[in-house]
Amino acid sequence: MTSAPSPAPVSNFLRTIIDNDLAQGRYADKRWAGKPGPASVQASGDSDPARIRTRFPPEPNGYLHIGHAKSICLNFGLARDYLGACHLRFDDTNPEKEEDEYVNAIIEMVEWLDFDWSYGNENNRYFASDYFDYMYQFARALVQAGLAYVDEQSADEMRATRGTLTEKGSNSPWRDRPADESLRLLDEMRDGKHPDGSMALRAKIDMESPNINMRDPVMYRIRHVPHHRTGDRWCIYPMYSWAHPVEDALEGITHSICTLEFEDQRPFYDWILNHLADLGQLQRPLPRQYEFARLNLSYVVTSKRKLLQLVREGYVNGWDDPRLPTLAGLRRRGYTPASIRLFCERLGVSKADSRIDYSILEQALRDDLDPIAARSVAVLDPVKLVLTNYPQGKTEICHAPRNPHDPEAGRREFPLSRELWIERDDFREEPPKKYFRLFPGNTVRLKYGYIIHCTGCVKDESGNIIEVHAEYLPDTKSGTPGSDSVKVKGNITWISADHAISAEIRLYDRLFSDPHPDSGDKNFLDAINPDSCSTIQGWLEPGTQLTVDTPLQFERLGYFVADRKDSTPEKPVLNRSVTLKDSWAQRK
Ligand code: ATP
Ligand code: MG
Repeated sequence: MTSAPSPAPVSNFLRTIIDNDLAQGRYADKRWAGKPGPASVQASGDSDPARIRTRFPPEPNGYLHIGHAKSICLNFGLARDYLGACHLRFDDTNPEKEEDEYVNAIIEMVEWLDFDWSYGNENNRYFASDYFDYMYQFARALVQAGLAYVDEQSADEMRATRGTLTEKGSNSPWRDRPADESLRLLDEMRDGKHPDGSMALRAKIDMESPNINMRDPVMYRIRHVPHHRTGDRWCIYPMYSWAHPVEDALEGITHSICTLEFEDQRPFYDWILNHLADLGQLQRPLPRQYEFARLNLSYVVTSKRKLLQLVREGYVNGWDDPRLPTLAGLRRRGYTPASIRLFCERLGVSKADSRIDYSILEQALRDDLDPIAARSVAVLDPVKLVLTNYPQGKTEICHAPRNPHDPEAGRREFPLSRELWIERDDFREEPPKKYFRLFPGNTVRLKYGYIIHCTGCVKDESGNIIEVHAEYLPDTKSGTPGSDSVKVKGNITWISADHAISAEIRLYDRLFSDPHPDSGDKNFLDAINPDSCSTIQGWLEPGTQLTVDTPLQFERLGYFVADRKDSTPEKPVLNRSVTLKDSWAQRK
């Protein structure tokens, strides 16, 4: 059985833009040679069969998190709906923090979400570092055209002359040096003749622009650092703000969708691309940048720097710790790809920043799992129930639906015997008002089994209840004629003690106790919830499917899944994915 089909996409401002672009044929003449490249390469191509091209451009410096999922669902979702292509591009232009481990983890999670970067025969998985030669060629073209120069000011001097929001900047003394001289120095920079920080290539725009991003932004800096893919080939690396538009243009991207903080970069995005197109380096029509609000989720941090700190300093056990909002962590916790896509659909796309409550993510998981999860019973805080009038050694089979939403899934079977495990909380020696479960003198139904009459309990020397005693009523077995002749108000779950599977069960709570752990000048580490994981030994219904891809609903308790790292058939380990109801809301 599969989950419910996705609803038809809800319109949003990006869809309106794309509809207009397509109606006007804005990209109808765009050429595509089947691979990224400058105008000279694309000119040999036919018109692009992909109606739009979007991209998801992660920097491989960490694991993907739930915020990235929003961008993935948006970019891949638009491409799918508009019969276009979405490229997976590793934005690996910053050598220091990037690693192949992250590249592989990112690929794994985009595939897990069930998105595909191929389009026809194209495999649109790219690395920005593959464009370093093109970028260098473009930088030279800009220098020759008088649109960029090598500046020998130090980083501090550049900062001092950049100005502020209220003060204009001032020109570098090197700004008007001859293009030939800048060109020679740029080549020397590339050839490793100058140390880090001694000079930089800057775009020549306007030091008095009200937009600080337009005050001669740095394009290349010297970094004598090896790169995870290009090794020692380069010692100059392009800055993100111009590398990114160039990457988009080389790949024939039509709609470059990014988060709101890049809005002020858009003028430079357009400046770079238009000049390179005028110089014949890039083909038109050029990509355009659009901004949307990033996902801010309560009770988590999503900054990769902070996630890295949680992992490195041992606050959690690795990037896939089930308490983390990384996709690897969510998967291990029991989140399904469909639940994450459903969450992202429900978020919609807007231009206004907002904060989304964590409970919305949890509800998406419940809504996805309810129709598909295999039902089973677990007892997490066990106490023994003895049916004192049930013959020793006898067992009989009881039946329950595998899934109440899906009669065709059939029934599961499990044994009943004289000694059972029940939840400690299902018995009270002295019941509070409106307590309908077991207490001396009360009658309840063992779910899918018999009606039983509670006769008392046995305690140890310290007064702890070690056994609950009851008698079963022989003619009341569920599903047999006349079984409901006795009316009861309580219904409890149970597992035959001789047949139960022992399992380690990990119960998770939020990693942070503050809904906004990193807002303002808070230190997010101060808000760590010390009780975010507790481990107990519980009992499971025999026959429970303990594979990592089988979501389980333990009746009355919540959704669980076998832990993909630690669970074995001999020693099962389960994670609680989410409770059946939102227990957090009641606690607040
Ligand atoms: P971080 O600040 O955590 O390092 P980032 O934005 O630098 O995140 P990238 O790898 O550069 O991470 O992001 C890849 C893509 O994912 C970008 O297009 C970015 O806009 C998008 N993205 C990242 N975080 C979010 C978020 N919280 N909501 C929506 N999109 C996001
Ligand atoms: Mg980034």
